[in-house]
Amino acid sequence: MERNITDFHTDKENHWVAELECGHGQHVRHDPPLIYREWVLTEDGRKQRIGQILNCVRCDELATQIAETIKQNCVKILKQSYEQAGISGLCGEGQWEVAIGLLEHVDQATLLKALCVD
Ligand SMILES: [Zn+2]
Repeated sequence: MERNITDFHTDKENHWVAELECGHGQHVRHDPPLIYREWVLTEDGRKQRIGQILNCVRCDELATQIAETIKQNCVKILKQSYEQAGISGLCGEGQWEVAIGLLEHVDQATLLKALCVD
């Protein structure tokens, strides 16, 4: 997920970390010959990068985790309500109407249930 750089700091091993608007940090090492980011070594170079965009890997992981949780909860709600409607004696079409109706009115807390965010 694209996030603006808001500031920089060094970690305990003295590597530069870009601080992103989402609150996450991302290393921006100058580590030749693998990575060339000479700009990170000077205050002026870092200042020029504030406001620029980095892809936040942690936000991407979180978004994937949220999407997967919502998908699993939707499937669970559909299966349970479809089966329950069948036990109540509804035909297949009626079962689907009940299941879809429940899913349309489900609250976000239920969709995000069991999501573990550190
Ligand atoms: Zn982030």
